[in-house]
Amino acid sequence: MKTLTEQKQKISPNGNPVKTNGKSTGALKKQQWNYSKSIEDQKHIKLKSEYDLFIGGKWVKTKKYFETINPSNEEVIAKVAYASESDVDKAVKTAERAYDKVWSKISAKDRGKYIFRIARILQEKAREFAVIESMDGGKAIKESKTVDIPLAIAHFFYYAGWADKLDLAFAGRKVSSIGVAGQIIPWNFPLLMAAWKIAPALACGNTVVIKSAETTPLTLYKLAEVIQEAELPEGVVNIISGDGMTGAAIVNHPKTKKIAFTGSTEVGKIIMRQIAGTDKKITLELGGKAANIIFEDAPLDAAIEGIINGIYFNQGHVCCAGSRLLVQESVKDIVIKKLKHRLQSLKVGDPLDKNTDVGAINSKMQLNKIKELVQIGIDEGATFYQSQCELPSRGYWFRPTFFSDVAQSHRIANEEIFGPVLSILTFRTPAEAVEKANNTFYGLSAGVWTDKGSKIFKTLSKIRAGVVWSNTYNKFNPASPFGGYKESGFGREGGRHGLAAYLK
Ligand code: ADP
Repeated sequence: MKTLTEQKQKISPNGNPVKTNGKSTGALKKQQWNYSKSIEDQKHIKLKSEYDLFIGGKWVKTKKYFETINPSNEEVIAKVAYASESDVDKAVKTAERAYDKVWSKISAKDRGKYIFRIARILQEKAREFAVIESMDGGKAIKESKTVDIPLAIAHFFYYAGWADKLDLAFAGRKVSSIGVAGQIIPWNFPLLMAAWKIAPALACGNTVVIKSAETTPLTLYKLAEVIQEAELPEGVVNIISGDGMTGAAIVNHPKTKKIAFTGSTEVGKIIMRQIAGTDKKITLELGGKAANIIFEDAPLDAAIEGIINGIYFNQGHVCCAGSRLLVQESVKDIVIKKLKHRLQSLKVGDPLDKNTDVGAINSKMQLNKIKELVQIGIDEGATFYQSQCELPSRGYWFRPTFFSDVAQSHRIANEEIFGPVLSILTFRTPAEAVEKANNTFYGLSAGVWTDKGSKIFKTLSKIRAGVVWSNTYNKFNPASPFGGYKESGFGREGGRHGLAAYLK
């Protein structure tokens, strides 16, 4: 069995067409356009060299600090506090005091006013947030500028509007806040995930302790500065950083009344076990292995863009990524041919370059996980194809990749790779497409591409996934609920449903 390392030249920066298990990948000749660099200006960025915990509206020192690096060049950007169990206790008790004394007492209209303020200040600083998000997480600046930050702002605006209309949201029922919400977020959309969680919690009258993920703490601490500027009463939002131990301390703290978690299914299961027998409310948004279904009557060029956006957006670090492409057998060859061409035009590189389509992999650990699963795909006999773009010499990178001839039994058809790697399967009839789409432990999202409206409705109504797109992919809106079935979790974030998670 060949290992990925042995095959280094095959999938290394300057690799030529590869042979895997006797099958040629048929890699196309390099045909990339050369663009001059267009690097986003960083002079306006204000970052401290060290971030303390943000508790009770103040910066609070702790014993341990850890470094956060830029995954595109492995340079340290800043040090951030590592919150211990006693720090978590301090943050939760502060949030509880702020709930009892201030936030549960002020009018709903005033709650809305503060959230609007946060939204407006964020809007003014949108560019700075976008650059920091790309530096800390590795994502392409064009995505943080047009997706992450505007959507985060939109969530604050959206839920600000609901704050004094909760009775209308749940007509005929009396609703009230819960208390302290403990929120744990992943590294793929840091500010956006924070907005998804903080905005509805505040609108519903709860206070918050939120923890950023290990590799992407910076935009949350910048949000802390915005919260100070908005003069949100002290202790209503407390922001901390740390690892799984810190997250577990939030989950286990007796005073957190609601847990909102976005992350891996594995950790979601641990959290479920931990809160069993308590009266905590919980929402879990976990992994996915979405089917993106292309029927033979689909507008194919548009569908190719949907496939690209579905799996290579944010380096594939997207829980609702269209990571399983189900293509009707009659158009398989043409779809693969078009996809190969399109893959070669994707620009991989410096996240701060405005021309970059695919940025850096978020961490070395994630890069290793992607490499391991790709190696498994090769060993299992799927046909491997990869873009031939050049990669920077430093940092964590993985070229856009897809596997064709994937079988349902392959691990790459079942496990979440969370990287720029697509698995292509085929089907003959709509019934087979639905059967295969649902043949997964997950159920977060799905996409359908066809010319026929009736086929869209017929197919999507049979798919067990929380979010479905037709003739588009990875589109988000704060008014639209997001969440999963099966091992993708439960509970919804966004929309009116997102309020229910923070009310009793
Ligand atoms: P990923 O694989 O995307 O890194 P994880 O589920 O490991 O996803 O991490 C998502 C978030 O959950 C991170 O903020 C991480 O620190 C936190 N976390 C990890 N382990 C635990 C745990 N046992 N309890 C609570 N939070 C945890």
